[in-house]
Amino acid sequence: MVINLAKKRCLILFISNLFCTDCVKKFPPSVIYHCPNCGGILEVNYKYEKVNKVKFKNKLSKFEGSMWQYKDLLPLSHEKNIVSMNEGLTPLIELRNLAKEYHITNIFIKNETCNPTGSFKDRPTSVGISKAIELGSKTVSIASSGNAGASVAGYAARAGIKSYVFIPENTPVGKVNQAIAYGAQIIKVKGTYSNSYKLALAASEKYNWVNLTSTYLNPYTLEGNKTIAYEIYHQLDGEVPENIFVPIGAGPLLYGILKGFKELKNLGFTRTLPAMFGVQAEQCSPIIQAYRENKQHVDANPLYSGRTIASAIADPLIGYENNGTITLRAIYESNGMGVSLTEDEIKEAVFELGEKEGMYAEPAAAASWGGYKKLIIQNKIPKKGITVLLLTGHGLKQPLESDEHRRIPVIEPSLEDLERKLEVHGFNGNG
Ligand SMILES: *Cc1c(COP(=O)(O)O)cnc(C)c1O
Ligand SMILES: [Zn+2]
Repeated sequence: MVINLAKKRCLILFISNLFCTDCVKKFPPSVIYHCPNCGGILEVNYKYEKVNKVKFKNKLSKFEGSMWQYKDLLPLSHEKNIVSMNEGLTPLIELRNLAKEYHITNIFIKNETCNPTGSFKDRPTSVGISKAIELGSKTVSIASSGNAGASVAGYAARAGIKSYVFIPENTPVGKVNQAIAYGAQIIKVKGTYSNSYKLALAASEKYNWVNLTSTYLNPYTLEGNKTIAYEIYHQLDGEVPENIFVPIGAGPLLYGILKGFKELKNLGFTRTLPAMFGVQAEQCSPIIQAYRENKQHVDANPLYSGRTIASAIADPLIGYENNGTITLRAIYESNGMGVSLTEDEIKEAVFELGEKEGMYAEPAAAASWGGYKKLIIQNKIPKKGITVLLLTGHGLKQPLESDEHRRIPVIEPSLEDLERKLEVHGFNGNG
């Protein structure tokens, strides 16, 4: 007799609920994107008192397989539905050279570029697509500034289901090509991310696709982001950093990481929470603007022209301003700050991470270092304590557009020609 291993492994995991962040009403797990009662943002809630704390603490001190090692606090009912490519469990790396240069200590990069498709989006995608399959879906959709689209395309291919990826017209080609390679149906939409967001939502409702848009729309995706908190806690031997810097579009990554630490607090594993710092590009910074003016609500940025190199975090929030507001609240609540960067500051951050630390970040991802550096130089945050910067996406996805590579002369394959070239840079044969 053949034992059905798949069936044997299909354990019932921890049961969770959806609840509304505005009216606090609860709903059973299902495919809904807004609170049926008030239209508010939905979030996943667990019966924390029922979590086996000893067992979970043990999980928090492991680092093997994938982020699904934390499945007790992830919203799936059956393990067999998990779609995984070993996402998560990314390195936490100390920035020693930049620390020396700027007279700082204890500064770490959480290197999310090591995920299967090159950005942290694989965490929300893996949870979202697994839950979609559990809820019976055969087709998924997503609105994305590029990375989430490439991620969903890859995971849908892996799961053997169809994906529709809605992206703004000027999405970086590296990300578009990646989604094409995974065989997604790609829809380029005129205008900014907000247009893609709205069209994906309307189409998903009309054709019954599960919408995996990770900006506070699909409530399950946020659960992937929070696993970053569990990992940092483990990697710092049970310490919680003082400061965490996150490049933010609408901000679910920032919000999700804070949620993870709050859960650790809820379970009694820590008493402190990190201060959450959001970084945006000045060209499109609705959340930082509201922060600067000390507002309680975020307004959309309807004038955004689509011109920042940090395209992965350029979300004008038109029509879903409450997404920005919930992130702003998380920044205030955690005693963090908002900071925005000029295009030059973003470029400089890309080169500093590359030249000083050997880390290749796409422009939006380098913004976490840029934002931290700006606040340190302005003396706005103390230099003590542990700071973690999220490196959210790989540089190969969106190399800085530069002609520099064309200016490198091609030489003859001879030592004479080599020396002639290097002499220009002061080379004298001694290293
Ligand atoms: C998606 C993304 C972010 C942050 O996006 P949120 O939607 O605000 O969580 C940051 N950096 C990169 C590279 C991204 O792709
Ligand atoms: Zn509600």
